[in-house]
Amino acid sequence: MAIEEKKEWKLQDFEIGKFLGEGKFGKVYLAREIESGFPVALKVIFKEKLDKYQFWEHLTREIVIQSSLQHPNVLRLFAWFHDETRIFLVLEYAANGELYKLLRSVGHFTEKRAATYVASLARALAYCHEKHVIHRDIKPENLLLDLDGRLKIADFGWAVQSNAKRHTMCGTIDYLAPEMVEKKAHDHGVDNWTLGILCYEFLYGMPPFEAADQYDTLRRIMKVDLHFPSTHYVSSEAKDLICKLLVKESSKRLSLKQILRHPWIMNNAEPSGCCNY
Ligand code: ATP
Ligand code: MG
Repeated sequence: MAIEEKKEWKLQDFEIGKFLGEGKFGKVYLAREIESGFPVALKVIFKEKLDKYQFWEHLTREIVIQSSLQHPNVLRLFAWFHDETRIFLVLEYAANGELYKLLRSVGHFTEKRAATYVASLARALAYCHEKHVIHRDIKPENLLLDLDGRLKIADFGWAVQSNAKRHTMCGTIDYLAPEMVEKKAHDHGVDNWTLGILCYEFLYGMPPFEAADQYDTLRRIMKVDLHFPSTHYVSSEAKDLICKLLVKESSKRLSLKQILRHPWIMNNAEPSGCCNY
């Protein structure tokens, strides 16, 4: 890693490269730190937009939380700086882009690839939970892939750092855990549920409780209306893991440590976490 800590950064320290994408609050560019040549992703956010959508708190939380995390499967936030009109986030560059795009282009993943991603997520979440960070918005759009095909969790805007149980409703509907649908207090068990949803989506190409309208999705989540389509072969070990994560009662879900010891993960996940084949 070649980005110095504690330096006061400015735009002139970077050479801006290609446009990588656009989010609700700004644009992301590939950039290079001129002195070291180190590639980064520079996220440019307009202060005016933060004012308009009252998003300061959200962004502040993202910055505080993400810059405190250092894990191979969590996208690094190296630094941030600002000028009169914009805020710049200096992020780790994920050269292989969004996992979501890859999933949509191939339909569904092989068991080896799916297990590798689930193990990477479980390790990253275990690290976050140790630091009392609950992400709460884990979904394929927030997962990026680096040059080696290693999964990186991005977007900590919805995360919270707390020991207490939470009451707010957040996240995308398909990935909501039952306790969040019911607006009950929730803790890190929420992320374990989401891992079950993602594991299913990696293997089948769509989330398990998808329905024509949101009300139906919520109803299916509350019933844990889980089916395994026979469109293609998925091993019984994989289904076993999914069933042990998509459990209504959060305390009965498999723990992150148990996920990493599950036979399907042990037999399929790539130990390096890299998936470039
Ligand atoms: P939101 O505003 O809800 O966060 P978003 O996640 O799509 O939406 P950004 O995080 O601003 O928005 O990112 C926009 C796009 O830029 C992403 O979809 C992704 O394709 C690309 N991108 C973002 N960060 C990186 C990165 N670190 N490395 C490579 N590409 C990135
Ligand atoms: Mg994002």
